Amino acid sequence: MQTYLNIDNVVKKFGQFTALEKISFSIKEGEFVCFLGPSGCGKTTLLRCIAGLEAVTSGLMVQAGTDITHLPPEKRDFGIVFQSYALFPNLTVQDNIALGLKNQGHSNYDCINLVNKWLAMVGLTDFANQYPNQLSGGQQQRVALARALALSPGLLLLDEPLSALDAKVRTYLREEICRLQKKLGITSVMVTHDQEEALAMADRIVVMNQGVIEQIGSPQEIYEQPATRFVANFVGTMNFISASIINKSFIRIGESLLKIPENTPIKGIKSGLVDLAIRPECLYFCSESENSISVKIQFIEFQGAYYQVECQLWDELSAPSIYVNVPVREARKLNLKSQQTRNLAIDTTQIRTYS
Ligand code: ATP
Repeated sequence: MQTYLNIDNVVKKFGQFTALEKISFSIKEGEFVCFLGPSGCGKTTLLRCIAGLEAVTSGLMVQAGTDITHLPPEKRDFGIVFQSYALFPNLTVQDNIALGLKNQGHSNYDCINLVNKWLAMVGLTDFANQYPNQLSGGQQQRVALARALALSPGLLLLDEPLSALDAKVRTYLREEICRLQKKLGITSVMVTHDQEEALAMADRIVVMNQGVIEQIGSPQEIYEQPATRFVANFVGTMNFISASIINKSFIRIGESLLKIPENTPIKGIKSGLVDLAIRPECLYFCSESENSISVKIQFIEFQGAYYQVECQLWDELSAPSIYVNVPVREARKLNLKSQQTRNLAIDTTQIRTYS
């Protein structure tokens, strides 16, 4: 796949404040990339710079071989969908979609055909003559999507398009956006602060924090091999356990010694006192004899598909908590109870250490 968008050393300052610090990455043709990060990390600013709605302070942006760094938004080849839908309330659904097409110089005949095609594409053919306030939030966002895509942009920009919708509609619409994006093969960038959304939708995720990129990778890479403590903490639930690395074969956690298999050396910092990061689904209740640590169960919370079990690392009130996810079927066999002392095995192939 060819590079479609190249961002090179982009800096954006608002007065003395640096919102984006030397941002560099590229997006391949047909790729779906999510900018993920906490509020204020700069993801919307980056999207707005790509759209030309903000001028960059320095750096270079090249889209499909054209230097777009200083092009005004109307000269750039993108369609944009906002969180707030931004439909014209006094125009019907079909007129909202037709407006941009007319401005592009399409004939009335072409406009009608294209509007009908895109209404069918987003499943809103029966709503052509309704006004935005007669539609649900999800339907309005589908109109906004159709309006953006009808102009056949080279790049689709989505600024938190699902945040204003309730959970069920959000899941439905995210599948619809993915289906359309793959069907059309349109290069897309979506801003979100919702890690689940990014993991479910993106081909690659750009994780941002305080104006810099922490990591770029596939959802699996970001989740399974977080490059920094920030990424480990921000994406999914992560346990951080204080540990001491004895040598390449043993780690001490509290009173327990854990053996590290020779063929899967530990990832991250390899000596001294560390924080060991492990996902709740990589911990297993086991018998005492196994390579395990002793914990005391504090709370057991039913989560539908699994139980989230909060454990205390050793029998002191100040002991740190760790969370373990136990699939429902397994939990029935284990007969877990609050205040029990149990043993936890750690999948040492799935741990990473941070300083
Ligand atoms: P959110 O998820 O809350 O929208 P974000 O990651 O999209 O956050 P941005 O909106 O890009 O963050 O803002 C990044 C930083 O830049 C913030 O500290 C914000 O206050 C600042 N900022 C954004 N726009 C301006 C502006 N026009 N003038 C001054 N500061 C701004």
